Amino acid sequence: MNKVRTRFAPSPTGYMHIGNLRTALFTYLIAKQNGGDFILRIEDTDQERYVDGAVEVIYKTLKDVGLNWDEGPDIGGPVGPYIQSQRMGMFKKYAEELVEKGEAYYCFCDKERLEEVRAIQEASGIAPMYDRHCRNLSPEEIKEKLDAGVPYVIRQKIPTEGEVTFHDELYGDITVDCSTLDDQILIKTDGMPTYNFANVVDDHLMGITHVVRGNEYLASAPKYNLLYKAFGWEIPTYIHVEHIMKDKQHKLSKRDGDASYEDLMKKGYLKEAVINYIALLGWAPKGENEIFSLEELVKEFDIHGLSKSPAIFDPAKLKAINGKY
Ligand code: GLU
Ligand code: ZN
Repeated sequence: MNKVRTRFAPSPTGYMHIGNLRTALFTYLIAKQNGGDFILRIEDTDQERYVDGAVEVIYKTLKDVGLNWDEGPDIGGPVGPYIQSQRMGMFKKYAEELVEKGEAYYCFCDKERLEEVRAIQEASGIAPMYDRHCRNLSPEEIKEKLDAGVPYVIRQKIPTEGEVTFHDELYGDITVDCSTLDDQILIKTDGMPTYNFANVVDDHLMGITHVVRGNEYLASAPKYNLLYKAFGWEIPTYIHVEHIMKDKQHKLSKRDGDASYEDLMKKGYLKEAVINYIALLGWAPKGENEIFSLEELVKEFDIHGLSKSPAIFDPAKLKAINGKY
């Protein structure tokens, strides 16, 4: 069996709220209860949404609560973490490997053409999707366009029929009709990867065995699975976790600074109480015990106790737990 390796892959687009911290905690617990590694990867490729200082807050918060990551660019050392923006140059060759295998293709469609297609689809009530025009270009046409320097993206070649099934530890087997999946862009016109491509390649290169993340990625997982298959790579175990909500309708938001860890510290909560509280948000331990140290959580945590409904942040409950320390 491969050594268990998990990763926490935050985007530094705002401050760390307790939902982000909970994802980090579950990711850490799964690694440590299996004697595995916990990897930190900063996904900082979206410059527009980058928030100054957010990376430092991520480091500080994780260290503060004892979620120490295991390695960085020099595999083997307690250094790191991985910074995705520093790895941008290497993704294109992976996409080209897929082009050679017939699992991806160059798309030369310009914005006008894509907008036209989209408008027609929308007018006829079809969910907008790339119409796969460039899948049918001949090798000569492709060469001609490349020689002429026409800008292109690289798209994933999704099977035109059949189904794709993937397994989530929490949600079980999920089967999706391939015809509903878009030939998504893997490499943009500037040669840089999309998030959807980079995360799969990075997870593979980093030997990630368990992918823990918010369930907003559940809908993308079938395409990720197809990418793993196209490369012939081993598919990781997926665990998509529910969100933490501010109230019944609203998710916690990094950008709004909701329930940020720093804020809770300023309000005088103990970090042990915060960790304990977030562990219990959406996870039901087997016994009666409600107070756990991080070491105890490593032993007790079981992904099968995770809930599939969103949990609501309840400051009164946090206060009660805090009072028990
Ligand atoms: N960078 C993504 C986020 O912060 C996480 C995606 C993932 O864990 O795969 O939402
Ligand atoms: Zn095209």
